[in-house]
Amino acid sequence: MEVLKPTEAWAKDWRLATPLPAIAGTTELGFGCYLAADYQQLIDSPLLAGHFEVSRFDIDGVPHYLVVSGRNCFDMARFSADLARICQQQKALFGALPDDLSAYWFLTWVTDSGFGGLEHRDSTLLLCSRFDLPANNQPALSEGYQTLLSLCSHEYLHTWWVKRLKPAEFHPYRLAQEQYSRQLWIYEGFTSYLDDLALYSSGLQNEADYLRALEKTISRVTRNPSNAVQSLEDSSFDAWTKFYKQDENAVNAVASYYAKGALVALCLDAALSQQQRSLPELMRQLWTQHLDGGTPDGAIQAILQNWQLPELAARLTAWVQQPEILPLAELLPALGLSLSFRQPQGQDDLNGPAKETEEGSPQQSAWLGALSQGNELCLKLTAVYHGGPAHQAGLMVGDEVLALAGYRLNQSSQAELLKRLPKQQPIEVQLFRRDRLLSSNMVLTEPPATVAQLTVTDAQLLSQWWAKAASEPQV
Ligand SMILES: [Zn+2]
Repeated sequence: MEVLKPTEAWAKDWRLATPLPAIAGTTELGFGCYLAADYQQLIDSPLLAGHFEVSRFDIDGVPHYLVVSGRNCFDMARFSADLARICQQQKALFGALPDDLSAYWFLTWVTDSGFGGLEHRDSTLLLCSRFDLPANNQPALSEGYQTLLSLCSHEYLHTWWVKRLKPAEFHPYRLAQEQYSRQLWIYEGFTSYLDDLALYSSGLQNEADYLRALEKTISRVTRNPSNAVQSLEDSSFDAWTKFYKQDENAVNAVASYYAKGALVALCLDAALSQQQRSLPELMRQLWTQHLDGGTPDGAIQAILQNWQLPELAARLTAWVQQPEILPLAELLPALGLSLSFRQPQGQDDLNGPAKETEEGSPQQSAWLGALSQGNELCLKLTAVYHGGPAHQAGLMVGDEVLALAGYRLNQSSQAELLKRLPKQQPIEVQLFRRDRLLSSNMVLTEPPATVAQLTVTDAQLLSQWWAKAASEPQV
């Protein structure tokens, strides 16, 4: 047990980690004077003060610091070594570190729960649970650790891809008001595609685990009605008022420029591979051409035109300007994969083969058309899909559904009830909406097939895709 001391004594052995350069006389990781060249650098340089562990690795001679706050039981050496492999991989994508990067800091704030990250020019501030950190003597990549590495990978890629190369309208970034851009699908979407891919191409994740993660992204995008309602350019432009202010109707109205943007990147990569080109090549071209002034709208289409690929340029415009369903099943064979969809067996079922029942065949549960959080009394609806059974019955987000066809519906009964109740005929549903007891008739249906299943159909094409993602550019 740690013994609490008065604040002054407690803070006596604190240290300080920040990407800001120290002025001569200030000891490394010590309190003292740090100098920002301008206001922009000051507000783009987080600092972490307190008790922490530090590890250092170098990429092309540039020091990278991994700082982990507090006192935790975890394998720092492994975290640092794995992170170094990811950084090496992201650097390989562009061929070199940015010229002006003299040091990079991963500042990790560890709590009992919580997750997130924010990119800065020479650092990232990360938030994770202490159980996301790799345990000592833990050979496998736990789900939490894999997600944490993916977050590190994502924020580090932003060092190039949004902190230096950015939309033209962010030059200069005006701090007094919101800045609007139609291009966030390029910057967050491509980054979301490449963060997980770097885990695979650096050898930290195996092929099967990578493909299962990709299936999850495809399933999440596919099952949300918003996929066919809002375009990615609109989602990007409205980020200030919609994506970051999501309400209960978001699953029906707000497309994710992260997840769907990642799938646009996948579609582009697949289509480019048919032309002996690749997404990394396209990204390097954007980096070279637009580092100074930023990317104007249509920058990618202009490169595709220049590569004599006008059809792909037109298709890309449709993918991002219209609320289109992306042609993944058509394009993935170019990467050696085939895509099919099956029906989900529950709201958390997003990937992998269907689970078989004892009798040997998957038993299809009925579909409520809603997401919920269950407890012993009811199911509280957290999302209602437009046009689904719950929506048709007049149910809303926040409703506490108590019974279906006269049977109690709760956390433990829902799976069995939804397997047994009849589909395609009205059954009674009872619910509380705030303090009012209401009833309605609901027609349960079969769920739409939204769970992605990826199968390797051509190992050679697949390995070419991996190789392109993993190799240094030929310059
Ligand atoms: Zn991001």
